[in-house]
Amino acid sequence: MCPVCQARFRGSTECSRCGADLGTIMGLAAGAWRMREAARQAIAEGDVARARALATQAQEICRSAAGRDLEMVSSWLAGASLEMDKASP
Ligand SMILES: [Zn+2]
Repeated sequence: MCPVCQARFRGSTECSRCGADLGTIMGLAAGAWRMREAARQAIAEGDVARARALATQAQEICRSAAGRDLEMVSSWLAGASLEMDKASP
C-alpha cells in the first residue's frame, strides 16, 4: 500500500492516487519478502537463529501480519533450541 494515502500498488512506481514515489518502498518490500523466504528456508534447514535474525530484520524493513507470525515462530524455535542447548551437558 502507498504509505501516504494507503492506495493499493498498481504495478507502477508512482502512486495512482497521490503520485507518491513508491519505488523505494517497493524495493524495501521486495527485500523484506526475500528475507522472509530465506527465513523459511533457514527454519527448514534447522538454522533457527538465522531464521529469527532474518524474520526480525524483515519486520524492521516492512511490517506485515504474516511477517510477525514468522518472527514469532522463529523466535519461539530459537528460544526452544537455546533451552535444549542449556539442558544438554
Ligand atoms: Zn498514494
